[in-house]
Amino acid sequence: RTLAELDAAVSGCRACPRLVEWREGVAGTKAAFRGEEYWARPVPGFGPADATLAVVGLAPSAHGANRTGRMFTGDPSGDFLFRVLHEVGLASQPTSTAIGDGLELYGTRLVSPVRCAPPENKPTPAERDTCRAWLAEELTLLRPTLRSIVVLGAFGWQALLPVLAAAGWPVPSPRPAFGHGTVLKLGDLRIFGCYHVSPRNVQTGLLTHTMVADVFRAATSVTAS
Ligand code: SF4
Repeated sequence: RTLAELDAAVSGCRACPRLVEWREGVAGTKAAFRGEEYWARPVPGFGPADATLAVVGLAPSAHGANRTGRMFTGDPSGDFLFRVLHEVGLASQPTSTAIGDGLELYGTRLVSPVRCAPPENKPTPAERDTCRAWLAEELTLLRPTLRSIVVLGAFGWQALLPVLAAAGWPVPSPRPAFGHGTVLKLGDLRIFGCYHVSPRNVQTGLLTHTMVADVFRAATSVTAS
C-alpha cells in the first residue's frame, strides 16, 4: 500500500487496549481545551512521502497530537520543534497549531514509534513492540528517498534500531547506545541522536534551541550531499 493508505490504516488501529482507553478517555479533560473535539485516535506520520529526513519521536501527547491529529502539533514540545525546523529550512512556518493551518514540511517526515497517547507519556515495552509493525512499514515506504533520521530520545532510539536491523540495514551488534550527538552510519543512512524536545529537557537547560538546530543542520547536510 501507499503511505496515504498506511496513514488511513494506522488511524483505525485498536491493538493496545490500555492506550485505546486512555487516548479516548483523556479527551476534553484539560480545562484549556474543554469543549474541543479531540482526534483521540492513532496519529499518522506527517510530511511528504518522498522525505529524505525522518524524525522519530516517542508518542503523541494527550492534549497535543491526540487532540489535533497531527504529529507534534498543539503542545510545548511541538512549539519548540517547529521553531527549529523552520529556522533550518525544513518547515514553511515556525508554528503548528492545527490541521489546516498551512504548515508544510520540506523533505521531512515526522513519525512516532508509538502512535497512541500513553498515560504519563510512558508506553510499555509491549505497546512499543505491538506498534513496531507500523513504524517498519512506514520506513520501508520511505526507504527509496530516506538518507537520515533524527531520533528524539532514548525510547525512540531503542524502538528504531531493531526495526532498521529487521529491514536489513547493517545495525551493529551490540546495538550502540543512545546519546545526544551520537551519529550512526548504516550504509547510505545516517542516524542522529538528539535529546527529546520535551519541556523538561528544555526548562532544565539540558537541551537548547542551538543544540537541536545543530543536529538538524548536520542531518540536512547529509540529505543535500
Ligand atoms: Fe495500534 Fe500503535 Fe496505537 Fe497500539 S499504539 S493501538 S499498535 S496504533
